[in-house]
Amino acid sequence: MNIDETFSRYVLRTYGRFPMIPVKGEGSYLWDDTGKKYLDFCTGIAVCSLGHCHPRLVQAITDQAQQLIHCSNLYQIPQQAELAKLITERCVKLPGKMFFSNSGAEANDGLIKLARRFGNVRVNANGEARYEVISFNKSFHGRTLGGIAATGQRKIKEGFEPLLPGFIHTPFNDSAALKAAVGEHTVAILLEPLQGEGGITSVTQDFLKTIHELKEKHDLLILFDEVQSGFGRLGDMMAWKKFAPDLEPDGISWAKTMGGGFPIGGFWVADRFIDDNTTPLFTVMGPGSHGSTYGGNPLACAAATAVLSEILEKDLPANAIRQEERIRAAIADWKFSTLKELRGHGLMLGWQLKSDAITVPEGQTPALHLVLKLMEKGLLTVPAGPDVVRWLPALNVTDEEIDQGLEIMRSTFASLEN
Ligand SMILES: *Cc1c(COP(=O)(O)O)cnc(C)c1O
Repeated sequence: MNIDETFSRYVLRTYGRFPMIPVKGEGSYLWDDTGKKYLDFCTGIAVCSLGHCHPRLVQAITDQAQQLIHCSNLYQIPQQAELAKLITERCVKLPGKMFFSNSGAEANDGLIKLARRFGNVRVNANGEARYEVISFNKSFHGRTLGGIAATGQRKIKEGFEPLLPGFIHTPFNDSAALKAAVGEHTVAILLEPLQGEGGITSVTQDFLKTIHELKEKHDLLILFDEVQSGFGRLGDMMAWKKFAPDLEPDGISWAKTMGGGFPIGGFWVADRFIDDNTTPLFTVMGPGSHGSTYGGNPLACAAATAVLSEILEKDLPANAIRQEERIRAAIADWKFSTLKELRGHGLMLGWQLKSDAITVPEGQTPALHLVLKLMEKGLLTVPAGPDVVRWLPALNVTDEEIDQGLEIMRSTFASLEN
């Protein structure tokens, strides 16, 4: 039985998989089982933030695995404390507390639970608990039941009804629609500072201003889903700071970049008072309110500490900014009938295609068509919606690697011209 047959016989067919078998990775490069070498700008979908098998990450995992892999959250876990301190003091730079999970969707579930508890304490004028979370069209918040309820895309939730109630979706960056949607049960606003799966769309400063005003007026929580955009990818350790450095969020979720490939996620809760300076927000999530068997175990925390320390010490957010500038300069004079624009920031970029200028085989979107062509030429990328191709390179990607990626893009766009 070949691997295709084994897959389809024994693995649930929830993914559309490319017919490629990765066997080895080093830095920005990945090799398949035929020995073909790829420049990897997919990086496990923004996960392998230091590239593949970075020596510091490998060493941290090896050292910790030889000492203690797992212990329960029933006990003290110093690696967890150290990681929480690192994230709070050197990344968020605002007082707060962490909870560790194993994935991005789980981290978002935690934020949703925080919002529900907050709404139980901060009831509305009629004395009723508030529970409604507003999130946005084209958002993506993960595949758990909480995550799909929060997600603003039909295809993600189809057939899973009844969904977790208490979610409203409005158009992203539409302040009037958002204001109109806030009701007596609204308790939080959840957003990606830069929408990833939805097609690489940044939040506007205006929209963040509206969100802040609504928070003040209606006693809401501002929750950022930075699962894809966080920890340096946009040029700052915090994605939201790219758009509103002075805004103070109440909760933030992360995963992906954080573990560099080791599964870990987490959410942060601001240390602030929720009423007349007596009750801190974190007290709504007290003992017994949430948990995870694996979440924040010694091995996962040692891995994430190594990754975040490397990002900070090497100032990789600065590399993200510099590479974006180099990319934008390099393509300034590109004139391809199929390329509409380059979207996004830092090393979370989306090549938006002019869909009607591309003829694609039946069953393929323009984005998928281009991703397949690039793969043939040895460049791994990811679709984001039907007409955007994402670049999510490692944060330590070099000038030469970016130039190599640009040359493959250029020649591929050229080959699409009739
Ligand atoms: C990937 C992603 C998630 C889900 O993360 P998982 O680790 O797959 O559960 C949630 N939100 C955003 C913005 C994402 O990009």
